[in-house]
Formats: sequence, C-alpha cells, structure tokens
Amino acid sequence: MTRSRRALDQIYLPFWAAVFVALACVAILALNGWREWSSRQNDLKNAEVDMANLARSLTQHADDTFELADTILIGLVNRLETDGTGPAAIKKIQTILQLRKSTQKRIRGMFIYDETGRWLATTEQVDFTRLNNSDRDYFQRHRASSDRETLIGRPIKSRSGGQWIITASRRFNHPDGSFAGVALTTIDAAYFSQFYEQFDIGPNGAVSLLNADGIMLARSRDEGTYVGRDMSNSPLFKNLLDRPAASVYYFKSPLDGLQRLSFYQLSSRYPLVVLATKAVDDVLESWRYEALTRMVFVLGLTGLIATTGFYLVRQLLERQRMAAALLAKEADFRLLAEQSSDMVTRIGFDERILYVSPSCARVVGWDPGQIIGTPALAGINAEDLPRVQQTVTALKLGEAEEARIIYRTRHRQKGEIWIETAMRVTRVPETGKIDGVVAISRDMTEHKDLEKKLAALAISDGLTGLANRRHFDERLQGEWAKASRDNTPLSLLLIDVDHFKKFNDQYGHQAGDGCLRSISRILTEQAQRPADLAARYGGEEFVLLLPNTDAEGCEQVGQRVREALHEFGMLHVLNPPSKRVTVSLGGATNLPAGVAADCVSLVAAADRALYAAKDGGRDRLVMSGQVIAWPGTKSA
Ligand code: GH3
Ligand code: MG
Ligand code: MG
Repeated sequence: MTRSRRALDQIYLPFWAAVFVALACVAILALNGWREWSSRQNDLKNAEVDMANLARSLTQHADDTFELADTILIGLVNRLETDGTGPAAIKKIQTILQLRKSTQKRIRGMFIYDETGRWLATTEQVDFTRLNNSDRDYFQRHRASSDRETLIGRPIKSRSGGQWIITASRRFNHPDGSFAGVALTTIDAAYFSQFYEQFDIGPNGAVSLLNADGIMLARSRDEGTYVGRDMSNSPLFKNLLDRPAASVYYFKSPLDGLQRLSFYQLSSRYPLVVLATKAVDDVLESWRYEALTRMVFVLGLTGLIATTGFYLVRQLLERQRMAAALLAKEADFRLLAEQSSDMVTRIGFDERILYVSPSCARVVGWDPGQIIGTPALAGINAEDLPRVQQTVTALKLGEAEEARIIYRTRHRQKGEIWIETAMRVTRVPETGKIDGVVAISRDMTEHKDLEKKLAALAISDGLTGLANRRHFDERLQGEWAKASRDNTPLSLLLIDVDHFKKFNDQYGHQAGDGCLRSISRILTEQAQRPADLAARYGGEEFVLLLPNTDAEGCEQVGQRVREALHEFGMLHVLNPPSKRVTVSLGGATNLPAGVAADCVSLVAAADRALYAAKDGGRDRLVMSGQVIAWPGTKSA
C-alpha cells in the first residue's frame, strides 16, 4: 500500500467506523425486530391451532347433542306417524317422554304439537290444555315446508321456564302425507355456554354456537345478551357458503369491538357453526410483555453500542485532528529548522541526537546522517564539558526551562570552535513529562576571536603593542596584593628615553615612533619571566613590572635593558657622549621585610630613582634603595 493510499484510508477511518457502528445498531435492531415478529406470528399460530382444535371438538360436541335430540325426534315422529295422535297413543308417548327426560340431562324438554299448534304432550310439568305454539317460527316453517329433516330454529324464550332454549324440531305427517304436527326437543342455551366456559380461552375469549342462518344459539359468558342475535350480516355469514368448512378467521367483533383471532367450523351433519375466538390482545399479551422487556434490553444495548461508537468515532476524529495539527507543527518545525543557518538539534532523554538540521554540516562539519543517534555532548572541550553536562542535567531534572551556554567543541575540519547554544526542554504532550531538549547552536568562533582582539586592544598600546598604562595599573595592583599576601618581593623599573625631544627634533617624529617601537621590542625581550610585564607608561616612558623579583634581580634586568640598547646602537647624535639612543632607569623593590603604604609609593620610589638617574648624567640605572631609605623615608 502506498503512503498516500494509507493516508486516504486514515482520513476515511472515522467515517467507516461510524458506518460500522450504525450498521451494527441497525442489524441488532432489525434482527431483534424480526425475531419478535416471528415470535408474535408463532404465538398467533399456536393460538390458531388451539382455536382450531377447540372448534373441532366443540363442533363434535354440538353434533353429538343435536344427534341425540334428532334421535329422539326420529323416534317420536316414527311413533306418531305409526300410532297417530289419538288419546291412547298420546298417553303412551307422554310416558315415553317422561322416561326419556329422566335419562337425558342435555335435553331440556320435549313437545308434541298437532297441526293447529296445540300442545299434545310434553315433558314439562305444566297444564298445557290451553297452550298453542302455532305462532312459533319453527312451527310455521314445518307447516309450510314438506321437508322432513330436523330444523334447528332460532333460540327462543321458553314459554314454560323463561330461559333461552334452542329448538330442534321435525314435522310429522298424516298417513296421506299432509302436515300432522311438530315434534320438538329443546336444549338450554345455558347447557352449551356452561360447557364452553370450562375451557380457558383467555379473559376475552369466547365460543359461540350459531346456526347456519347466523343466529346465535349459545355463547360462553353470555349473561343473556348475545343469544338470539342475528349475526347473518357479519362478514363471516355474508358469504359463508363460499368459504371452506373450517378456517382461521380474523375479525373485529361487532359485539365487543375487539380484534379477534378465531376458528370457525361448520358442522357436516347439522346446520351449525362453532366459532372459537380469542382476543388478539389476550393471545399476544405475554408476547407483548416479553417483547417489551427484550426490546428495552436490546434498545439499551444498542444505545450503549451507539454511544460508545459515537464516543470512539469522536475520539478518532479528535486524534486525527491532533495528528494533523502535529504534522503541521512538525512541518513548521522542520521548515524553520532546515532553513535556519543555526544548527537545530533534538536531543533525547538519553542525551543522544534524535534530529539535527542540515546546517550542522556547516556548523560542526558533519552530515546529519553521520551524527544522528550519537551522544550529543561528544566532541565538547574537556574543560567545558562539566559545565555543559551540568546545564543539560539541570534541564532534564526540570530545574530550568531553558538555558544558554557558550563552550568549545570540535569542528570536523576546522578543529576547535566556539559554539553558543540555546537549549529548551521538550515535553511529552499528553503527560507533560520532560523527554529531551531542543538545542539551537551557532558558531561563535569569529565573535570570540573578535572579543579576544578587542580585549587585547583594550589593554595594549597602539604604537608599541606593549601593555598600556591602564593595564599596567591593574596588573600592578594585582601583583602588589599578591606580593603582600605571599610575602614575596615585587620590583618595578621606570625607563625614560634620554633627550628624546631632541631625537624627534633631529630625525623627525616618525623616526621617533620607530625608535620607541624598537625600545619596546628590547623591553619585551628582557622581560623574560611569564609574569613580567612591559608597558608603555606614557610618551617615551616605559615600565617593567617584575613580580617575585628582588632588588638585585631588578637591577640585573635594568642593566640588561641598558646593554641591549647599547648593543642595538641606534644613532642619536644629540645624546652625548655615546651619540646613541640611551635610556635612564629608576628601579624600586618592595622587599619582603619592607612596609610600603601602597603600590603608588612603589611607583613614586621608582620615579624618584629615575630622576636621580637623569640627574646623575643619564644612561644609567639607579635603584631606589640607593637613593631613598626603603620604605618611605627619603635618603637621596
Ligand atoms: P630627558 O633626557 O630629560 O628625558 O629629555 P627629553 O627630551 O627626553 O625629555 P622631555 O620629557 O622634555 O621630552 C619628551 C619628548 O618625547 C617630548 C615628545 O616630543 C617626545 N615624545 C613623547 N611621546 C612621543 C611619541 O609617541 N613619539 C615621538 N616621536 N615622540 C614622543
Ligand atoms: Mg620623559
Ligand atoms: Mg626623556
């Protein structure tokens, strides 16, 4: 994978992470939704199976009940048609009815009516001599139709008991085939409803028994409100004939307005329909509760995933932003570092070079590649190293945030150079812990040389190159203090050119300058000890400061100067008798035992000795001891 491709992928990473999280959430929700849906369907399916089984067995039960009534009716019709409705036959039938009644609990009552609707016989304990049922629907239908099948009529309120009863009736004929009357059995609607109530079909479940015309014959939990209702207008009955004999059937109940899951079964033997229904709400109640619980859990989980995902994506974006900022910062840093003429170095906590800018080739003579990874303090002058090391250690310990230091180090080609380095600690951005130092170094050698030159200029005399008066004064004070402390002698020679004014007059000022330079050289040569100092005291006067030199030594040096000058033999015709350039010298020594007030008195003593030398005829050395009582008191 190329670098740019990887960078591109990095850019899109939060996007893909967000997509992934969103997809995961959607997948979890969808999976759960699907699962819940199938669990719901499963519950409905099971309820359908339950209802189907119930409807089938209750149809069987209704069939059995009506078959019983039918059997009785067939027996009665047969007997009536055979024996007629004469009083003897009726009496016999009355006995049979009573017998039947006691053995058949399901049959509420049995009745025989003649062709006028008058009661002939019954199982009921009533006086029926005046009762007539010709107004009843079933009676009129039998009278009107020659159909000899059992008719299951509308439920009716019993004339004898006042309760709802279901009628099953058959017509019986005279021998000539004309209508002779109706045999009727009744079944209490309550018999069915009580039977149906034994089944647990939920608080809103119901079992209904209807005849094929859609008249409600019995219903569980009836309380007298449903029986007898005409349901023929309900969708089920509107096209019942087009429907299969048994089927699952969903509908909104016209009775109580509830959405219902039901199974209807048409009896194959009688014009009956059994409808077993459960309220969909009852079926789904436990599913709803469980689904809700599961959904809450799943939603919580999804929410957690989404929140975590959102947080992670935000982190990712933040990191990306930070990385970009860091890259930009690093680019800035590199640009600055690489364009800078100064050498920029990143030093790790182990004091090794992590990065160095290209200008290091100019500053220290090495290519960056050659020194990255090497110890940063390598090559530093041994004298300066402890100081540099101490500074770096202080920075690493956090004692200082930045430092500036000047030291010597080795340049690959130029040898030792002076370097000025500004250092600053670097920290880990996240923790703030110090992880190294950034150093910016520049070559200070030229500056240092210039400094040295300036310093030298400040203390030297322009014409002769000897130390100037100011420097002499400083040295004198220092040497005086040292001599007093160490109890060592300190000598001083004041030297004045003889008749120099005349020399100038004779040879010109430039020649005079040359003469002074020559004398300086001689003085420098004669000031042989490292601590000796030759200085121009002013005009054509010089001074030699001779530390740790007693009067004898001082005299020797003075004589050597004189002799050297003699030897040099510079012509000076106006300086008799030698006609050569000569000097007069005044020497003074602060002996160990001697007590001088201060260094000024030493100079004064030498000055006096010099005057004595001039007075004495020039070109000579006079030691202070020979002219003055050392210290202080005048003797010459
Ligand atoms: P004496 O032997 O008594 O010292 O006589 P002198 O002429 O040397 O004494 P004086 O102090 O009167 O003269 C000093 C002269 O030195 C005066 C000045 O012209 C000359 N002089 C002082 N400084 C310089 C200098 O820098 N260059 C030159 N060419 N001459 C100088
Ligand atoms: Mg002079
Ligand atoms: Mg002079």
